[in-house]
Amino acid sequence: MAGTPYDLVVIGSGPAGEKGAAQAAYFGKRVALIERSPHVGGAGVNTGTIPSKTLRETALYFSGLAQRGLYGIDYTVKPDLTVQDFLFRQHEVVRSLREVVRQNIARHRIDLIEGDAALDDPHTVRVTRADGVERRLHGDVILIATGSAPSRGRDVALDDPRIYDSDTILEMPRLPRRLAVVGGGVIGCEYATIFAALGIRVTLLDGRDRLLPFLDAEVADRLRLQMQFLGIEVRLAERLSRIAPTPDVVRLELAGGTMVDVDSVLVAAGRLGNTESLGLDRLGIAVGERGHIPVNEHYQTAVPHVYAAGDVIGFPALAATSMEQARVAMCHAFDLKYKTRVAPIFPLAIYTIPEIAMAGETEETCRVKGIDYCVGRALYRQNARGQIVGDLAGQIKLVFRVPDKALLGVHVIGEAASELVHVGLMVLQTGGTIDAFINAVFNYPTLGDAYKYAAYDGLGNLQRRQGSSRGDSETRA
Ligand SMILES: Cc1cc2nc3c(=O)[nH]c(=O)nc-3n(C[C@H](O)[C@H](O)[C@H](O)COP(=O)(O)OP(=O)(O)OC[C@H]3O[C@@H](n4cnc5c(N)ncnc54)[C@H](O)[C@@H]3O)c2cc1C
Repeated sequence: MAGTPYDLVVIGSGPAGEKGAAQAAYFGKRVALIERSPHVGGAGVNTGTIPSKTLRETALYFSGLAQRGLYGIDYTVKPDLTVQDFLFRQHEVVRSLREVVRQNIARHRIDLIEGDAALDDPHTVRVTRADGVERRLHGDVILIATGSAPSRGRDVALDDPRIYDSDTILEMPRLPRRLAVVGGGVIGCEYATIFAALGIRVTLLDGRDRLLPFLDAEVADRLRLQMQFLGIEVRLAERLSRIAPTPDVVRLELAGGTMVDVDSVLVAAGRLGNTESLGLDRLGIAVGERGHIPVNEHYQTAVPHVYAAGDVIGFPALAATSMEQARVAMCHAFDLKYKTRVAPIFPLAIYTIPEIAMAGETEETCRVKGIDYCVGRALYRQNARGQIVGDLAGQIKLVFRVPDKALLGVHVIGEAASELVHVGLMVLQTGGTIDAFINAVFNYPTLGDAYKYAAYDGLGNLQRRQGSSRGDSETRA
């Protein structure tokens, strides 16, 4: 046997690697966790989830956006806001959460090993430290949790310091006056609203004709409207031909001939799996076009004792699902009889301003699947808490099946959407109907109470469809 023996060797300390390692260690396995970055936590803690969500809170704070209009005071962004002000809290939160991850690793007695890992053979992981020193580890089981990195796409001048990706944006030296965001996916939309809230003139560009096509179309339209209220110029179905930096501006040349001049550009063109240097070819593991590793339902690669989880296997590439995939993988690897699969319905949250969250079917997916469905809506504007917090544009929407009222999907846009969606998620997960909301007592005044009224609205819509004489006013008791 070559190298120090371990039951499990994990490559990468992001959400998937940390939780997979902890899962096995909790059940008494000897675990090594290899990380090439000087900081643990992966993109989840250092460059992705946590920084962007903290910057959103910072933008809301400095813009006073959440309070705008509440007290008759017109808040505007602090005029001399510096990039240091903007990034300060993000640095603090990231520092604290790295420590939380490090403590979790230590508490589980996992050996944390710094260095770049590659596979020499199906059981041997070679770790090369920054100073060139190498060591070898033997893993009965190996978990690849190496995550992903931003793809810059074609036609992008990689070396111009005014052109950022979602990693380098965290190191920008100053806030631009005008910013173009190329790519209307989750990351692009989130950053577009964050910067717009700070008073920066943002142009959001995407070649597709709608934002976030996986969202319920009504919610996506509401988001687009809210973005426009924030001052974002949303340019859809427009293809970027070239980014041409000049000494004074960065010029975006669009396919139709339009030019957009800005001070900085954020390219949010998707992500590629971190697989290049792993030596997977030596094991006969072929990766897909975007560097993703194919796995089966147990997260096994083509080599059964080599598992992969998280962004490196592709969709849905979320911190939450990455952690759960790794736990499920380790339960399978060590026959822990604890978790056998990742829950098939998982929530999605998009931390734009306003926030969006969803779980389950949209109206569009119901139509594609030929499901007879009905919807119910409740607006925050008609909800006491919505009025108190001043979010008058928010909405909870339920999609349910005709005629048994089984809940199929829940869609929330507005304050606390990412938290509220969990109420609907639990009903979805237990196969409940919209009556679950009607029969529950919700705290008052809360946004959660809007679930009850969305369900009442759904009942009213259902009755109207079924030709009942009972009207909406009766069902909205
Ligand atoms: C801007 C942005 C915002 C996001 N927002 C959200 C959000 O709101 N909610 C959400 O759920 N998800 C969000 N995500 C996605 C989330 O960050 C990822 O899904 C998650 O981090 C994936 O976890 P992971 O463990 O698979 O990989 P990562 O977090 O990428 O970690 C992989 C780790 O492996 C290490 N590594 C790679 N190769 C090697 C090697 N050869 N040797 C040793 N170490 C190696 C890397 O250094 C890294 O530390 C966001 C992502 C971005 C970029």
